Amino acid sequence: MSNTPDAPEKGKDFIRNIIDKDNENGKYEGRVHTRFPPEPNGYLHIGHAKSICLNFGLARDYQGKCNLRFDDTNPVKEDVEYVDSIREDVSWLGFEWDNNPFASDYFEKLYYIAELFIKMGKAYVDHQSADEIRENRGTLKEPGVESPYRNRTVEENLELFRKMRSGELKDGECILRGKIDMAAPNVMLRDPALYRIKHADHHRTGDAWCIYPMYDFTHGLSDAIEGITHSICTLEFENNRPLYDWCVDTLMEGLKQPELFGENEAIYNELAALPGFNNRPYQYEFARLNISGTVLSKRKLIQLVQEGHVSGWDDPRMPTISGFRRRGFTPESIRDFCERIGVAKADSMVDYALLEACVREDLNKRAARYMGVMNPVKLVIENYPEDQVDEFEIGLNPEDESYGTRTVPFTREVWIERDDFMIDPPKKFFRMGPDREVRLRGAYYVKCTGFETDADGNVTEIRATYDPESKGGWIEGGRKVKGTMHWVSAAKGLKAEVRNYSNLFTCENPNAPEEGKTFVDYVDPHSLEVLSECYVEPAMADMAPGTNFQFERTGYFCADSKDHVAGEKWVFNRTTTLRDTWAKVKKKMG
Ligand code: ATP
Ligand code: MG
Repeated sequence: MSNTPDAPEKGKDFIRNIIDKDNENGKYEGRVHTRFPPEPNGYLHIGHAKSICLNFGLARDYQGKCNLRFDDTNPVKEDVEYVDSIREDVSWLGFEWDNNPFASDYFEKLYYIAELFIKMGKAYVDHQSADEIRENRGTLKEPGVESPYRNRTVEENLELFRKMRSGELKDGECILRGKIDMAAPNVMLRDPALYRIKHADHHRTGDAWCIYPMYDFTHGLSDAIEGITHSICTLEFENNRPLYDWCVDTLMEGLKQPELFGENEAIYNELAALPGFNNRPYQYEFARLNISGTVLSKRKLIQLVQEGHVSGWDDPRMPTISGFRRRGFTPESIRDFCERIGVAKADSMVDYALLEACVREDLNKRAARYMGVMNPVKLVIENYPEDQVDEFEIGLNPEDESYGTRTVPFTREVWIERDDFMIDPPKKFFRMGPDREVRLRGAYYVKCTGFETDADGNVTEIRATYDPESKGGWIEGGRKVKGTMHWVSAAKGLKAEVRNYSNLFTCENPNAPEEGKTFVDYVDPHSLEVLSECYVEPAMADMAPGTNFQFERTGYFCADSKDHVAGEKWVFNRTTTLRDTWAKVKKKMG
């Protein structure tokens, strides 16, 4: 597991406490086997990252195993595109799965387990309509009404279930239900659906099946089949836990009656040999991650993509893992974030600023520095010879000398930021203004001697003189200047496109829209700002797509993974500004 990040050093969460206790008691003989079980019906989002870090982190910390299991029991919404993206995202986060099964791998086994349930008198085929089933389920206050088909004989149920499988029946004609308790206080236990008929092609099994197992039936049994020990999911599954237990316990009970398998001895032997047999998995729930200013639900994210509010799943404004990756977030920063938010049992909202703080901290250590002018205006240095070029060696990373230096050429004309010049600057403005002297980072002192404006009064060009004594940006023992500005040689710089992103939504919680609105009404059409005429250092010419770096004084950026072409076309995404909004938020909170 070479790729796996180091174990965290921090207090243990409640799940680790449970595992410690299980290990003390010798349960599972010290084995820890978790799984991360996405449905391949969308791309993973940052909420999934929390679950990934937890499940894979447990396997790492306890020398256990973690499966990446695709929960693919809903043929209509699933797709191989999603399967591929999920694998890519989990690997990118730095985790390696031990097994990568699909729930659909178990369709045959699950089918025979369902037959077993029927033979045990624990399941029946119900011919009530969907409406009738709903009406007869009862409410929280009132018990449900038993189906008139509930007491069919085992033989009749078996025959009907086999007909369901053979394709003789239409969608919705009947379902297989667990026979539990129509008066159970937990509505989930009122004879839940186990199998439904769906004549639809599945992305992996094609048309082999026309019945598909339901989530609750599939999930616990897949865990048992794989020998999972701790099955961790989010709080909304708390009510499903008794049903999870019922499915797993019923299987365990059934496995004690090999005679029920009859001609399916081979299936029995296979199931009875599984690590989960007699050592069943248990489900534990933790709080899902919510982040301010965004939505974390695949249904909503799909809508953003399909309605064209964003450029795709990996749009850098999307809270998807692929969006964060394209935006320039590092796996380290996302893992650090998941570490810092911890694992608890109470839902909470995490400020997006914390995620930004994590990526800033990581990139501050690791990102090379360059100069880039976002909003250029030309500065002409009148006393600098036209054909002269100075080459300055400037450190790539002040946090780490081993990064070395890059060569930065200086010429008579350079680009500076429009915002770094004011015609009539106030005292506290330490940048350029008429007659003011400033430092061009790593190069020279320059003093403004004049400027040109257009008809509207916009500055079109600034003139200055430089002091040859200040070569390298200092005069030993000489006068000092207050301001330092970044710059790019006009003759040698590269023209680049910079994409600045701000929050995709205009409000803190798009999940709770005002009456008459939906979350898409809060999409900010100005959340992407494209600066198509920026100038950057020539040292960036061959930068590979996906490279993280800092534009000095501006922010952290990353060469776009799709549109940037080394040596040809330079496109940079702003990951985050340098400003530490998190510190501000913390201060506000007191
Ligand atoms: P969504 O509600 O976004 O569609 P989901 O729960 O349906 O998500 P799954 O593919 O079923 O998506 O999720 C795989 C695993 O990730 C589940 O165990 C689920 O509990 C967990 N998970 C999903 N969203 C979050 C979240 N916001 N925080 C933590 N874990 C999550
Ligand atoms: Mg789900």
